[in-house]
Amino acid sequence: MRIVLVGPPGAGKGTQAAFLAKNLSIPHISTGDLFRANISQGTELGKQAKAYMDAGNLVPDEVTIGMAKDRMSQPDAVGGFLLDGFPRNVGQAEALDEMLKGEGVQLDAVLDLEVPEDEVVKRIAGRRVCRNNSAHVFHVTYSPAKAEGVCDECGGELYQRDDDSEETVRKRLEVYHTQTEPIIDYYRSQGLVVTISALGKVTDVTARAMEALQVDKAAQA
Ligand code: ADP
Repeated sequence: MRIVLVGPPGAGKGTQAAFLAKNLSIPHISTGDLFRANISQGTELGKQAKAYMDAGNLVPDEVTIGMAKDRMSQPDAVGGFLLDGFPRNVGQAEALDEMLKGEGVQLDAVLDLEVPEDEVVKRIAGRRVCRNNSAHVFHVTYSPAKAEGVCDECGGELYQRDDDSEETVRKRLEVYHTQTEPIIDYYRSQGLVVTISALGKVTDVTARAMEALQVDKAAQA
């Protein structure tokens, strides 16, 4: 399957993407994670991206589209993928359409995670992420790690992302409304959008997502 995940920052895209990708046996491709990996490795691309990310802005399309296409061209993504954080504006959505068209394939669904704005701010302000694996996510109040600052899953160091300050979160939300939300209409006109609530337990949201994608055990086999 080829799926795009959309939703505001803090909707739980990364968390859900990790579970869904595993259930569906497709790679989870997160442009945010790709940028963060480049930043920690000190690459040129990482240097270009960092200032935009820290300010809560989008990294320019010239940088982002090439990076996303490269990743989608890897052998593990030939049969399908789950995109998390890409596309993030209509230009990127058009570039993706063009790429898929060139390969004679298409998207199966765009999963839209809905969550109220005040919840988003609460979730992000308390979010702590593992340095080793961005799928290992904790929250100081909602899902605290057993030992403060240490990942329960792998013992890695937990940290607060540079762009998770309240001020930057507000900026990211504004960018989401003005630039990313229009892709929902873009995909709606293609009949691809399924919207689910991202409130409640992580496992409940995953179950809702699987149902919305109409994936049952038989179809996965
Ligand atoms: P979140 O979904 O919580 O906002 P991400 O990890 O997806 O976090 O993205 C973090 C930042 O990385 C964004 O605020 C943006 O600066 C940059 N980024 C990620 N994906 C894209 C994209 N497709 N286009 C431009 N910038 C992006």
